[in-house]
Amino acid sequence: MEILDGKKTSNEIREEIKETVSAMKDLGKRPPHLAAVLVGSDGASLTYVGSKVRSCEYVGFDSTLIRLESNISEEELLKHIQDLNQDDNLDGYIVQLPLPKHINEEKILLAIDPKKDVDGFHPTNFGRMSLELNAFIPATPFGIMQLLERYKVSTNGKHCVVVGRSHIVGRPISILMSQKGPAGNATVTVAHSQTENLEKLTRSADIVIMALGIPEYLTADMVKEGAVIIDVGITRVPDKEHPKGYLIKGDVAYEEVAKKASFITPVPGGVGPMTIAMLLQNTLLARQSN
Ligand code: NDP
Repeated sequence: MEILDGKKTSNEIREEIKETVSAMKDLGKRPPHLAAVLVGSDGASLTYVGSKVRSCEYVGFDSTLIRLESNISEEELLKHIQDLNQDDNLDGYIVQLPLPKHINEEKILLAIDPKKDVDGFHPTNFGRMSLELNAFIPATPFGIMQLLERYKVSTNGKHCVVVGRSHIVGRPISILMSQKGPAGNATVTVAHSQTENLEKLTRSADIVIMALGIPEYLTADMVKEGAVIIDVGITRVPDKEHPKGYLIKGDVAYEEVAKKASFITPVPGGVGPMTIAMLLQNTLLARQSN
């Protein structure tokens, strides 16, 4: 069994980006610039945005954090989005989700200029990705593809079962896994909450991608010997013993499943760290296309 080490791989990607940025600066070019819009002060969102900003600083990007009050109107937020779209010194930006309930998330995401949509959530990018055209690929699926590619995991002709069909993970990864090219060419089945006999499907899979958000859902009896296991799930499970009061759990019962797997991503330290690295990669791509 080999661990698909997202921490190590994401550090390698960060170093590669850092070198590219340093070479850009040596040539007198402006470094990539990423902005993050955070509405309100939700704890988890603050943590995510904070680590995105720190990662930007590490690789030499410019970064801007735009913090807005939780009672901002939809109209005012749209005005900020228009300003960001028109800012020539900005290559990409993200709007941290979730947004307060009085704001229509879809309306906000649609207002983002697809050329600056480094999260890859805009329908233009999603459509381009599906058509195998140049596009910003959502960071989490992009990170999974990089892990598979860099560890030379064989996906060609394999049966891949994706559990989850969300727009940010399950659906895009199912499209990418079936596309032509490295880490693709798989035969993909997408499962969701209405799927019958899920165990039968996962037991027949060469590759299982778990993205549902139910801790330790995939158990050893649900996978075949030698399967590749990708665990996207991140759930905070209360734990009084832990100083933080919770533990981070994935969707896979790691200890027992790892014994049968050929490759497996741990949680934490698997897909999670790859997500931020790929956001940086998308921002670099945005800068290079300007
Ligand atoms: P969503 O809640 O949007 O989607 C969950 C999906 O799982 C849905 O398609 C749902 O089906 C399906 N599902 C729910 N219960 C079952 C079940 N019993 N059997 C089969 N399928 C089921 O979640 P996300 O895709 O946003 O996130 C999934 C997990 O990944 C979460 O733990 C999240 O925290 C984590 N995550 C991690 C990231 C990272 O960087 N590592 C990034 C993004 C997410 P249906 O469509 O029918 O409701």
